Amino acid sequence: MLNIGCHLSASKGYEHMGREALSIGANTFQFFTRNPRGSSVKKVSEKDVAAMIALGQEHHFAPLLGHAPYTLNACSADPRIREFAHMVLSEDLRNLEYLPNNFYTFHPGSHVGQGAEAGIDLIVRLLNQILRPEQTTTVLLETMSGKGSEVGGSFDELSLILGRVNLTEKMGVCLDTCHVYSAGYNVVNELDDVLEQFNKCIGIEKLKAIHLNDSMTPYASKKDRHARIGEGTIGLEAIVKIINHPQLRNLPFYLETPNEVSGYGKEIRLLREKYT
Ligand code: FE
Ligand code: FE
Ligand code: ZN
Repeated sequence: MLNIGCHLSASKGYEHMGREALSIGANTFQFFTRNPRGSSVKKVSEKDVAAMIALGQEHHFAPLLGHAPYTLNACSADPRIREFAHMVLSEDLRNLEYLPNNFYTFHPGSHVGQGAEAGIDLIVRLLNQILRPEQTTTVLLETMSGKGSEVGGSFDELSLILGRVNLTEKMGVCLDTCHVYSAGYNVVNELDDVLEQFNKCIGIEKLKAIHLNDSMTPYASKKDRHARIGEGTIGLEAIVKIINHPQLRNLPFYLETPNEVSGYGKEIRLLREKYT
């Protein structure tokens, strides 16, 4: 079965997202762990998480995916910004343990002039401070488009981070199809090669989740503009190959296309039809 969901608003809680997902034929979803601009987090409601856990079991949900605020920068040159990233990541991971065995993804960050190596050092240091042997959440590094001084625009950079994290078994990768295509990995014409590169560099077993997006910008453009499924430069045919690829087809897919909930429902229906 195709495990697929989309990004949903967390403002009404987990159970609400779970029911919304079911209403559009999804069996998972992604949500921001807090306001995407960062800052404060709502207190976890035990009643709400219990309802979501029951719903997830009843309807065979794939792992849920919490997304850190995209403004978070674990490798900023400014120690106060790094301190904030430390606070957000550790607090989010603590809260996610109320919903055990799910995923948490974050953008590695931007090194802004310090160089990728220095950025990678800071990210590794932070991860080694916050990961706990007893945690059940798997933390995913997201593949980035490589715009500006973003870290994580290449599999090599992600591999350098993962290779130096002590609790590497708590870590994985979330591959964003829009981002990797923009970064210069040709998932349209050379999907097998791209996955082979991923495997050589990182290990395919580290690939835990896919952000399934079309792209508004050309191949290798180093931009980050998502398009609806079939309306971008990746195109429906390549996306259908991605969801059916033997190395990917059992992973959970999360749509982050520019859509309202009903638009996501249409995409999910289409993709379920195309899943062989
Ligand atoms: Fe993201
Ligand atoms: Fe993404
Ligand atoms: Zn993006």
